Amino acid sequence: MAPSLSKALLPLSPQPPCLHCLPTPFSPLSPPKTSLPRAHLQLVCPCERAVSLPRTVALVGGLRRRVGGGGGGGGFVGPEIPGQGEMKYVLVTGGVVSGLGKGVTASSIGVILKACGLRITSIKIDPYLNTDAGTMSPFEHGEVFVLDDGGEVDLDLGNYERFLDIKLTRDNNITTGKIYQSVIDKERKGEYLGKTVQVFGSCFVDSRLFHLSWNFCLCSCSRTDRPNDFTFKVVPHITNAIQEWIERVAMIPVDGKEGPADVCVIELGGTIGDIESMPFIEALGQFSYRVGPGNFCLVHVSLVPVLNVVGEQKTKPTQHSVRGLRGLGLTPNILACRSTKELEDNVKEKLSQFCHVPAANIITLYDVSNIWRIPLLLRDQKAHEAILKVLNLERVDSIAREPKLDEWVARATIFDTLHDTVRIAMVGKYTGLSDSYLSVLKALLHASVDCRRKLVVDWVASTDLEDSTAIEAPDAYKTAWNLLKGADGILVPGGFGDRGVQGKILAAKYAREKNVPYLGICLGMQIAVVEYARHVMNLTDANSTEFDPNTKTPCVIFMPEGSKTHMGATMRLGSRRTFFKIADCKSSKLYGNVTYVDERHRHRYEVNPDMVPEFENAGLQFVGKDDTGRRMEIIEIPNHRYFVGAQFHPEFKSRPSKPSPLFVGLIAAASGQLDRVLQDCSNGHVVAAKHVLSNGSYTSTVHQNGHPKKLANGLSNGTYYASGNGVHA
Ligand code: GLN
Repeated sequence: MAPSLSKALLPLSPQPPCLHCLPTPFSPLSPPKTSLPRAHLQLVCPCERAVSLPRTVALVGGLRRRVGGGGGGGGFVGPEIPGQGEMKYVLVTGGVVSGLGKGVTASSIGVILKACGLRITSIKIDPYLNTDAGTMSPFEHGEVFVLDDGGEVDLDLGNYERFLDIKLTRDNNITTGKIYQSVIDKERKGEYLGKTVQVFGSCFVDSRLFHLSWNFCLCSCSRTDRPNDFTFKVVPHITNAIQEWIERVAMIPVDGKEGPADVCVIELGGTIGDIESMPFIEALGQFSYRVGPGNFCLVHVSLVPVLNVVGEQKTKPTQHSVRGLRGLGLTPNILACRSTKELEDNVKEKLSQFCHVPAANIITLYDVSNIWRIPLLLRDQKAHEAILKVLNLERVDSIAREPKLDEWVARATIFDTLHDTVRIAMVGKYTGLSDSYLSVLKALLHASVDCRRKLVVDWVASTDLEDSTAIEAPDAYKTAWNLLKGADGILVPGGFGDRGVQGKILAAKYAREKNVPYLGICLGMQIAVVEYARHVMNLTDANSTEFDPNTKTPCVIFMPEGSKTHMGATMRLGSRRTFFKIADCKSSKLYGNVTYVDERHRHRYEVNPDMVPEFENAGLQFVGKDDTGRRMEIIEIPNHRYFVGAQFHPEFKSRPSKPSPLFVGLIAAASGQLDRVLQDCSNGHVVAAKHVLSNGSYTSTVHQNGHPKKLANGLSNGTYYASGNGVHA
């Protein structure tokens, strides 16, 4: 028989109900109920299962805050979530400053766990309000990464895909905008049953109830004026939606195998203390409590600066940041400290003492020669052991004690020995943030190392190549052209808008006429087609309708694929199939003589299909088309050393161990190896799978208005920790 409420109001039960038996209103994921049945306030759980509680439950300002109790295990029985299986979560947060390389750290954690035999998925949380990255300027925020499903997401998802060789979905990128949109959509449909829809919910709890509310940390309640009658007032809809989202997305397989992964690495964007990330922190605090300590590991990436004056490693910023984290209800299990050198033992001890993290769980991410050393750094400091222990996996037989990272060791080692350079001129918009072209740079890097070359990227602002610059800024013009002429290969990446288009056309013309290897991506292909029409076919007014809607010779036209959403509605997005139409061409060979390839797209304009016969008669080959034959996907100029344009973005699928074939073609041609590579391909070697140990380095110089500049984001010498900002895998 259920105990009476008066019994329930006795101070502090020695044995609260276990989480398995909690009534639905206690669950943060259950729909709101108007009143809590009395029977649910029983203090002795019917199943008599014993539960120990988090160390302290404190209510601060009406909100639940759990202090401590997060990492120790200690017999706490987490709730069983139906269908959840054994999913484990690693949350990576950042403190002190932004740009510490959380993304690389999170990806590298995934790598070492994967190397122990676990299957990994990942989620990136971006607390900004945009629903996705599609409408964000790449020149402010870095490139928009495109997924197979057409998701336009934060570039950090590219880190995960490259490092873990997985394919993520748009839902693996959570933003505040997406969460609010889903909650507001539900609210419009009346799914909240007339309740007040709230972010956290508010909690009015008197001391009596607080003593009883062993688990009120998971929900909010209020007391009505009728004694002994409790009414649920609000449910924290936003924090619930975040948890539901994480749980749902974590289950999606991303590695080509069936069934959910074993571990989901969640990266929380921003820095602890940012106002906009508060709902996520609250949700993650609830989530960690809900899944239980054996299933949740929090890695906090922090900074240990060295002050020049004293040369001492300073722990205070990390202490403060951990205090902030704990104040928000999250307790770190592992500290990953960025520093220039390895942390001294006494520094670790101090951090351990003040941050309540065992010294063995304090890892130093010190500066290394290349990004592929980060997983090795984690392994050498036994980060995998610490994580497996926190996740209660250390005694699982099928999990390797020592991560198998031979490929990473070889790649990192070869990287450091490359010396023969290959110079690639990147002709695009330059605004100081090379993250705008991050995946292109990574793809160039993968291909360069595959060809055993040290990559040097010369950034050429396309406007500097234009005739008007010759008059307005002759030095800049001269420098830009000198760089272009000094390059072993030219790459024109994707882009939108007409600024600098003329300069790009001039670069394509130069490459075509001077037999310099050229790769045009998306816009880079379209401008190559315009250039061909103008200068080979003498169609002097040929243009893309993107730049001149009234052109008499529209050789690139608007070809929407169907509009469903608001912004970006007309964009052709995500994975589409390209069929090779001409077998004896470079691209087909580079791809391994396959009949088709699936690559990712992000564009609205395409080669005008009605003009294709004219182009073909003039010698331009359309070697790859879509299934209808109306959309031109790959162009080539047959007698050129390497002149290739792709309507798709091959860079998004390049991996360190599987470089993109079209990029390999460019680098191989630029370094005099294309014949050999093509020969290898016709002997049955697929470029993308040929060299397991691809790796490398690149240097990068920016030239604009005649002034060489170092890039602001650590790309200047290929060193992972060159500046920390914009560090990506
Ligand atoms: N602006 C061009 C289009 O919309 C190219 C887009 C791109 O390069 N991603 O088709």
